[in-house]
Amino acid sequence: MTDHPIIPLAGVIGSPIAHSKSPVLHAHWLKTYGIRGFYIPMDVAQANLREVIAALPRAGFVGCNVTIPHKETVLGLADVVTDRAALIGAANTLIFRKDGRIHADNTDGYGFIANLRQNAPGWAPAAGPAAVIGAGGAARAVVASLIEVGVPEIRIANRTRTRAEVLRSEFGAKIVVHDWVQAGNMLEGAATVINTTSLGMEGKPDFRVPLDGLSPGAVVNDLVYTPLRTKFLEEAAAAGCVTVDGLGMLLHQAAPAFERWFGTRPEIDQRTRDVVLGG
Ligand code: NAP
Repeated sequence: MTDHPIIPLAGVIGSPIAHSKSPVLHAHWLKTYGIRGFYIPMDVAQANLREVIAALPRAGFVGCNVTIPHKETVLGLADVVTDRAALIGAANTLIFRKDGRIHADNTDGYGFIANLRQNAPGWAPAAGPAAVIGAGGAARAVVASLIEVGVPEIRIANRTRTRAEVLRSEFGAKIVVHDWVQAGNMLEGAATVINTTSLGMEGKPDFRVPLDGLSPGAVVNDLVYTPLRTKFLEEAAAAGCVTVDGLGMLLHQAAPAFERWFGTRPEIDQRTRDVVLGG
């Protein structure tokens, strides 16, 4: 790898990858800040992952994002893993350092919190319990970051209860596991409510958790962003909650990676949202 690639390259590795919004987002920022670089989607099979990642720095790549299904595997391919990536058990960002070492980080939790802070400015993490619906990969980043910002109690319900129990054993006593069939009950008194499942996403089953327990004024966030205004967010808004869509998390998780690779901290504004939404 040359010390300073003339045209720095980055990209996203996953499979499938065609649906990813990251190439449009990074291309927008590269253009906005006049940076002579490129961000490329790369469909890579599990069997080729190690070889591809080892070759990228030699081709002028300064780093890459990693998405499903490689987020966990890449931890084993990195030389340095940040504490938060280790805690979450997955990485979404690789940085190819000048000394040849591969640095793995996870910015999903940061993106989740930054989205709430930007779009629900009055949000006070310590104001009360958080209710997390789901216990998949995204939930791990959400739970880790909620603990970090001082949420006093985190209630979790997941269709497959054992996955929620695993979060309880890994993240400790602040986690309280609730039954999936009674997930609506854990919303009572919750100051923050997050849907981390794929329910409500285009092409997926509807979100059916009863929302009668929502407190007016609670901050409600859906990680799903296709559609942008999910039925869950519509119902929460009708109940008097402050609602935040999932697009901001995607944008905010990308900002620290862009800064590390290309040297400029990008701004997340309405124009950024419009570009990613195809407007
Ligand atoms: P994942 O690891 O596959 O987890 C999926 C979660 O959804 C699990 O809790 C799963 O429950 C639940 N689920 C799926 N189908 C269900 C059904 N029919 N009924 C009940 N629960 C169901 O996926 P992930 O990576 O965590 O992603 C989850 C969602 O978050 C996706 O929609 C993804 O697009 C979104 N996301 C958004 C961002 C963002 O930047 N906004 C970032 C990451 C993820 P089981 O454990 O029972 O299967």
